[in-house]
Amino acid sequence: RPARQRKPDWIRVKAPTGKGYHETRQLMRGLDLTTVCEEAACPNIGECWEKKHATMMILGDVCTRACAFCNVKTGMPRIVDPLEPENVATAAATMGLEHIVITSVDRDDLPDGGAGHFVKVIQAIRRATPDTTIEILTPDFRGKMRAAVEAICEAGPDVYNHNLETVPRLYPTIRPGARYYASLRLLEEVKSHDPLIFTKSGIMLGLGEQRLEVHQVMDDMRSADVDFMTMGQYLQPTPKHANVEEFVTPKAFTAFGSIARAKGFLQVASSPLTRSSYHAGDDFAEMRAS
Ligand code: SF4
Ligand code: SF4
Repeated sequence: RPARQRKPDWIRVKAPTGKGYHETRQLMRGLDLTTVCEEAACPNIGECWEKKHATMMILGDVCTRACAFCNVKTGMPRIVDPLEPENVATAAATMGLEHIVITSVDRDDLPDGGAGHFVKVIQAIRRATPDTTIEILTPDFRGKMRAAVEAICEAGPDVYNHNLETVPRLYPTIRPGARYYASLRLLEEVKSHDPLIFTKSGIMLGLGEQRLEVHQVMDDMRSADVDFMTMGQYLQPTPKHANVEEFVTPKAFTAFGSIARAKGFLQVASSPLTRSSYHAGDDFAEMRAS
């Protein structure tokens, strides 16, 4: 549907060109680190990398799942790089990060789903830069969620993010390997394990969800005691991925944001280019200061 897929003005972003962008790129290459900024073809890369804000993707760049919205490669994942925790910590220290966001591909092939590696990364960052706040964005650890969440919470991240991605009705087509209520339970489990860890979750808009379904997701997140919520426009990475059903207007994003705030989230980011890691550190610093 070419007409519908054409991006409106509010989605267009500048090509990355600045000095900071190139420095960030070189650092990531030098330390052999993967970023979700590149793997997900994120539209904010010019802006974020210029400011030395990047989201590291650990556990390789090949995922065992194939979500219909996601640009990450699917297949046989690589062996886990034992040097990665130290390399992530070095990158955080070199970039002087106040806040770091770490995510991963899904590793259904590993006995612990990769939770132990998350723990090592958190510990390495704590050793290298104790003042850096750590936000992790994890997979759902299907079948081993409780043990994985427990191990990661013990390592003490500041923010635990797990995205619901879309409304439950669209799971079979958009997020076929996952279960909506299992993801909600994961968020609940983090809070019950350690109420001091902030929990965060987000969805993409424009996949065909209805307004009331979005409100229901907000209510479900609040019942699971989720603290922060993000909403952003889904963009189709390649023609093989799910279609954009709608470009939600900036005004509608603002309205969803107000509703979310009224429902009691501590932090809400809602705009077409919001991604779960967009301005993550700024929001967190602001919240801690208030
Ligand atoms: Fe990377 Fe997140 Fe910024 Fe996108 S919004 S460029 S994924 S840090
Ligand atoms: Fe992408 Fe995550 Fe789905 Fe893997 S599990 S395909 S990385 S969204």
